[in-house]
Amino acid sequence: MERSYEKYFRQNRLPHLWCPGCGNGIAMKAIVQAIGQQEGFTQDNTVIVSGIGCSSRASGYMDFDTLHTAHGRAVPFATGIKLARPELNVVVITGDGDCTAIGGNHFIHGCRRNVDLTVVLFNNNIYGMTGGQASPMTPLGKKATTAPYGSVDRPFDACKLAEAAGATYVARSTAYHVPHLTKMIKDGLSNKGFSFIEALVQCPTAYGRRNKLGSPANMMKWMRDNAVMLAAWNKLPEEKKQGEKFPIGCFCSTSATDYDTAYDEVIARAEEAVK
Ligand code: SF4
Repeated sequence: MERSYEKYFRQNRLPHLWCPGCGNGIAMKAIVQAIGQQEGFTQDNTVIVSGIGCSSRASGYMDFDTLHTAHGRAVPFATGIKLARPELNVVVITGDGDCTAIGGNHFIHGCRRNVDLTVVLFNNNIYGMTGGQASPMTPLGKKATTAPYGSVDRPFDACKLAEAAGATYVARSTAYHVPHLTKMIKDGLSNKGFSFIEALVQCPTAYGRRNKLGSPANMMKWMRDNAVMLAAWNKLPEEKKQGEKFPIGCFCSTSATDYDTAYDEVIARAEEAVK
């Protein structure tokens, strides 16, 4: 029996190379299901752009026009596509290292320009593909090959970073909360401007094993037990927000002139000036 989402995948590229129990496939499926539910989005008018890393392999499996770019450069490639072909829907898949380390500047400038992109960050808390180095989103005290006694670098909250930099839609969910994750992505697709969704995914190989977090199922149970829906989070007293608990939901949904529109306006002014 063919499942409704199978048409979105290049069957000849499967099976994927992700480790057994990896959360990347869950986030990838949430993206195609959100696209399938989004009116006006088709495989012919949607482009998937990714950077480098475990998460970014997703673009190779997805049956759209896809671009697997250089490390950290997915947002600028996507910006170019959007400016050249504004009628296309452009979705970026990136990882915590790709987006907030080598691609950090591209990310914040994409946010401030409010480029009409939907960026989904698969946050596995570590550099998986390149050997388990600490990323800017590795939690304090967690181990990585570059932090064998625990990371001392305070991690980015990528959602706060995106909102502060000017993204007009910002949300977080997890690989455990699949319907919620799908909805967060779908809402991001419908925003005209820079949408950012952090999808927390379990990485049992590079992160979980090193930090003794147990099986992939245990890592997902941790998400279940520690993620708090935003409405409930906002009612928690400060002392209950400490430790490993974290909020999920939509943190920001606002409107501002998107980059295509601003660019069209400047082109019109330039054309007027040379008449
Ligand atoms: Fe997934 Fe981690 Fe394996 Fe990469 S290293 S494929 S993120 S489990």
